[in-house]
Amino acid sequence: MHQNTAFPLICKGRFGLTGPFGFCSLRLMIVLKFGGTSVQDAQAMDQALDITVPYLPQAPLLVSSAMSGVTNDLVALVEAVRNQNSVEATSLLGALEARHKSVLAQCAEGVHHEEAKLLMQGYFTDLKALVKGSILLNECSPRVHDAVLAMGELLSTSILAARCRQRGIAVKLLDARNLVVTDEHYGEAAVLHPLTRKRIRESVKPQSGLLVITQGFIGATEKGVTTVLGRGGSDYSGSIFGAALDAVEVQIWTDVDGIMTTDPRKVPTARSIPAITYAEAAELAFFGAKVVHPATIQPAVEKSIPVLVKNTKNPLHPGTVICKEAPGQGLRAIAGRKGATLITVSSSRMLNAYGFLRRIFEIFDRHQVSVDLIATSEVSVSMTVEEKRDLSILVNDLETLGSVRVESGVAILCLVGQELWKDNRLVARVFEAIPDLPVRMISLGSSEINLSMVLKASDLDAAVAAVHRAFFGT
Ligand code: ASP
Ligand code: MG
Repeated sequence: MHQNTAFPLICKGRFGLTGPFGFCSLRLMIVLKFGGTSVQDAQAMDQALDITVPYLPQAPLLVSSAMSGVTNDLVALVEAVRNQNSVEATSLLGALEARHKSVLAQCAEGVHHEEAKLLMQGYFTDLKALVKGSILLNECSPRVHDAVLAMGELLSTSILAARCRQRGIAVKLLDARNLVVTDEHYGEAAVLHPLTRKRIRESVKPQSGLLVITQGFIGATEKGVTTVLGRGGSDYSGSIFGAALDAVEVQIWTDVDGIMTTDPRKVPTARSIPAITYAEAAELAFFGAKVVHPATIQPAVEKSIPVLVKNTKNPLHPGTVICKEAPGQGLRAIAGRKGATLITVSSSRMLNAYGFLRRIFEIFDRHQVSVDLIATSEVSVSMTVEEKRDLSILVNDLETLGSVRVESGVAILCLVGQELWKDNRLVARVFEAIPDLPVRMISLGSSEINLSMVLKASDLDAAVAAVHRAFFGT
């Protein structure tokens, strides 16, 4: 049952001729992070371990999310507590306990089952006490919120470790709250990196043949109070651990074949990108590609550790590697972002004047509105901002500088790729692909990897599909 199918493909080409076991490089250690769907039930957990086991010689650290849906259930539990709804709270607690117990029962038996059951019972006792106490006091503090949310990862990793023992895999389960030190910003705590790094290096001690398991998403303050890092924080944990341990690679196992050339829900012919640079991934994330948020891989980026995004349900697929330098030139991906407003300020006073842009941006600064794209001519400046803000006061202030036109309901089409401007035909090909769609603004050159165009929001999906077809075929 536990064939190690993923191994040859994942490692091929990554270790040169010596292969992963040829010799012990200084940076051989590897981090594998599994998202919620990759540990959603007993079968998924086995699959995650099948993927991990071939890396045992490389002293792997497995970082896990909560089982899928569990963090959302815990959020609902906090909400029930806030609303003093003990019926709802009890029912959520019951369902969570039943789900975890049933998965554990499928994963381990005998002593391994008993051991993990005790550990889990401890967590559930704490969780119930937290819920009961908060309802009694009619007070649901941010600390309670974080303590409740942290349970998902504590529970999933308890089961994973039990499964390892059942399968005879040498395992060490570490509580990330002793490793990841954060400030007291509950709900979205900031990691104190130097201290965290020190703790991780002192405690994890990667060892060939041993699987270390810990939780993503959670940490604790210096005083030991449980905190969480913000939703989706497990990727961040994965790269924090990878950076602290000088890992050779951080693998993020999710449920898609890596980062795609565009949103596959809108363009079914979208395909996975083999390699992409950190900078390109960051541009894409801003424009709505949601696979991995670049902020979460920053610690790995700083150490030039490649981050590999792979699909647990399709482990033979090579996925996407995000790294400092990715081979290939030209267009890599297309993304779109709706919900923008285009503001144009025009004034003849701008002609040959200096300080005009400064005055415009001072107004944006004062109103704390961030500008995404900008294009200027001699007498006018066009800027896009997020649509959701009420812009009327900002516009009033801008009118002191010149005439202002506001167009809402626009979208940004973003093309990302290395040295896009070197391709003489690029802009022509883009415009040829969308001959009938009016383009309101275009921005190329500010970053070497991004060509952005402003269109009507209602034209965006058609434009993405047409440009994708032109560059990537059908
Ligand atoms: N379990 C947390 C969440 O759902 C963290 C994570 O999975 O990254 O947001
Ligand atoms: Mg996730």
